[in-house]
Amino acid sequence: DRPMALDLKLNQRKIVHGDAGYVLEDVPHFTDYIPDAPNYPNPLQDNPAYSVVKQYFVNTDDTVARKIVVHKGSPRGTHFRRAGPRQKVYFESDEVHACIVTCGGLCPGLNTVIREIVCGLAHMYGVTKILGIEGGYRGFYARNTISLTPKSVNDIHKRGGTILSTSRGGHDTSKIVDSIQDRGINQVYIIGGDGTQKGASVIFEEIQRRGLKVAVVGIPKTIDNDIAVIDKSFGFDTAVEEAQRAINAAHVEAGSVENGIGVVKLMGRYSGFIAMYATLASRDVDCCLIPESPFYLEGKGGLFEFIEKRLKENGHMVLVVAEGAGQELIAESMRSMNHEDASGNKLLLDVGLWLSQKIKDHFSCKGKMPINLKYIDPTYMIRAIPANASDNVYCTLLAHSALHGAMAGYTGFTVGPVNGRHAYIPFYRVTEARNNVVITDRMWARLLSSTNQPSFLTLKDIESVRHVYSPKYLPPIKVPVDNNLPN
Ligand code: ATP
Ligand code: MG
Repeated sequence: DRPMALDLKLNQRKIVHGDAGYVLEDVPHFTDYIPDAPNYPNPLQDNPAYSVVKQYFVNTDDTVARKIVVHKGSPRGTHFRRAGPRQKVYFESDEVHACIVTCGGLCPGLNTVIREIVCGLAHMYGVTKILGIEGGYRGFYARNTISLTPKSVNDIHKRGGTILSTSRGGHDTSKIVDSIQDRGINQVYIIGGDGTQKGASVIFEEIQRRGLKVAVVGIPKTIDNDIAVIDKSFGFDTAVEEAQRAINAAHVEAGSVENGIGVVKLMGRYSGFIAMYATLASRDVDCCLIPESPFYLEGKGGLFEFIEKRLKENGHMVLVVAEGAGQELIAESMRSMNHEDASGNKLLLDVGLWLSQKIKDHFSCKGKMPINLKYIDPTYMIRAIPANASDNVYCTLLAHSALHGAMAGYTGFTVGPVNGRHAYIPFYRVTEARNNVVITDRMWARLLSSTNQPSFLTLKDIESVRHVYSPKYLPPIKVPVDNNLPN
């Protein structure tokens, strides 16, 4: 439930001045300043567009609270710095040399974030030196760079993908930081998912170790919405919207034949948010399967029984399955498989194909009803489209938060909304945990009552699930040697 965050800070605040800038007592989870206080007036104060906005600048000690708990009678909680332009900036505009890099898989909105960082730095702060690093992390030392200007990025938000291209693997920290140092780069904008933010954190640490005055800023990208702390990730809305087209196609196919079954696989390796929201939005889905909610096929209360029931009632049905669902069920076949990609992520077996085959096998048994199954995997079509309107607005806010923070001299943080307000979140906060659908929360209950599917759980299971899924800490990801695998 939403804490009354911002009222709290007014009477709870107790500022302690430390080396790392301000620290709130009990809530010491702030990003660091680059050592040295910020000292130049923000050029935005002369900009007529901003002089009309009351309180345009954010106070340096303004905070956003994440979760408030009552401890010894008084409310405590993790606070983050509020994002936004500061009255004083650390960098003078003409000394800024920024670079932008995109890593990991594609996601709608990448180009919008790139565009808005470039245009924001140029138009708001008069920055002219902005480099695009091509091909992900390895681009720092093994690829070309391109110079980015408001003119060159003007139309890119209308295109899917990333104009900088991307890659997995290839994170060589010392070579990357050498390259940053050699080129005289002092603001690094890193757009990417959980792996990328871990990489950004390591770069940040190496930069601290070498004592460089470089701001390292992460912009979280994950179409699955699985990044911890932030309310929602960019591209997610677009993905849910585009998924409707696939679900609709499956519904039309299933409804046009006798005992038609449409199976749609959606993204979500560990978190079923896309599948859940796409199902809730569509109303054509009879059953939604996600990684967080175990299910079984055979026997009473199992998936086959439910499919049979729906086919008898309606003559057709639509199933949505998130890519990470049911992995324990196919674990057997997995043992003999190649199991990691170039970034060390576990490669999952295609649950869509597996489930489709299982359903076909089950209903082709003697005495069962003949079925007609169509399987749709729209993953790459969804990832490749440009961001929709709401994601474009959101990407703009993320980019602006990022560059205002870097200009003010903050470093080692990721940007994103926390309880509806944009904040600066230290890297370790977003990499230590993952955001999951909590199946004991209301949203999943809403889905169950909307589809009327079985929960596949007993009361005892629910108790253990409650235990397993509340804040989930992840084992460290192994970074393998670069073996140049395609994305
Ligand atoms: P997504 O999974 O959403 O597509 P991602 O950012 O998680 O995006 P990855 O391929 O896992 O994608 O990682 C992107 C980059 O981050 C790669 O270049 C990888 O080498 C690097 N990376 C991943 N994990 C780490 C880590 N623990 N430390 C340093 N670098 C890492
Ligand atoms: Mg990842």
